[in-house]
Amino acid sequence: MQQKPLYDRVALIGLGLIGSSLARAIRRKALAGHVAGHARSQQTRDQSMKLGFLDSVHASPEEAAEGADLIVLCTPLGAYDAVLERIAPVLAPGATVSDVGSCKASVAESFARHLPAGVHGIPGHPVAGTENSGPEAGFATLFEQRYCIVTPAPDTDPAALKRLIALWEGVGAMVEPMDAQHHDRVLAITSHLPHLIAYTIVGTASDLESQLKRERASENALVETREVIKYSAGGFRDFTRIAGSDPVMWRDVFTMNRDAVLEMLGRFQEDLVALQRAIRWGEGDKLEDWFTRTREVRRGVVEQGQAGRFYATEKDGED
Ligand code: NAP
Repeated sequence: MQQKPLYDRVALIGLGLIGSSLARAIRRKALAGHVAGHARSQQTRDQSMKLGFLDSVHASPEEAAEGADLIVLCTPLGAYDAVLERIAPVLAPGATVSDVGSCKASVAESFARHLPAGVHGIPGHPVAGTENSGPEAGFATLFEQRYCIVTPAPDTDPAALKRLIALWEGVGAMVEPMDAQHHDRVLAITSHLPHLIAYTIVGTASDLESQLKRERASENALVETREVIKYSAGGFRDFTRIAGSDPVMWRDVFTMNRDAVLEMLGRFQEDLVALQRAIRWGEGDKLEDWFTRTREVRRGVVEQGQAGRFYATEKDGED
């Protein structure tokens, strides 16, 4: 006998990498009776229907959300308040509003500001993604074997939470409930800071390349056009992949998770200076000890199956 889907109507607001992957996965696993979607541009809405991962597409977020028992915000974080303001009047009592954003404390505040009584706001964050954006970038298996963190409040309705967890488990994720502030500190070091470092190093290398080019041109030497790209296999390539991530999404992450990122940046700078000193004073033992410890960390990540499959498919990673 066919089982009843978990939700009658799921509305996804934002149809990029994450929204379109969730739509694909929900439909593949028949977890909703109907999957409705909204994106800002006509082009994305048309493309989403063409790709066939939605049952209906809507020109406004409120049309998509109307009658939905689950609404998931999948836009950049900076768009949340405007979207919530628009959908709040059409939300049915008992509906759940969740999201996939990379910071959680700011989302809990937005939900508290906008959601009417009787609507369950439960923030969520699938720790899965790639550096690609848009509806074409999504794929149904994105969340398989990846963690999804949910940050319920102490008074969150247990039945609504259980149903949301069942949805994420249904698309293959391993769900971990967590306090929102704790989430933001952990993700600041595991995700946000690595992105900041990648954005920095790629920008610095690009500046250096321009400078070298100018110096050589003034010496009338043969100008090597793209040395950074040419020699990128030497470790730099992985940074360029991360630094290719969506600028708007990451602008919003750093704006919304400012305090936790600044705290982790302070710790990082201390350690960087310690390594700088060890290099200056030729303290090879210190460097070797440090690198041995970090190699163990990498082994742990691999052993837990969280190392990603970039080299096999180029389609899997973590945000
Ligand atoms: P994306 O591929 O760039 O897609 C963003 C989507 O949001 C697009 O469909 C865009 O529509 C829509 N959108 C933007 N502003 C909107 C607005 N004001 N109203 C309605 N729709 C709007 O982004 P993504 O990578 O899926 O990221 C979405 C969210 O997931 C972010 O909050 C991010 O923090 C979180 N996240 C991302 C990753 C990752 O690795 N990328 C991983 C985990 C969580 P148009 O195409 O029409 O502009």
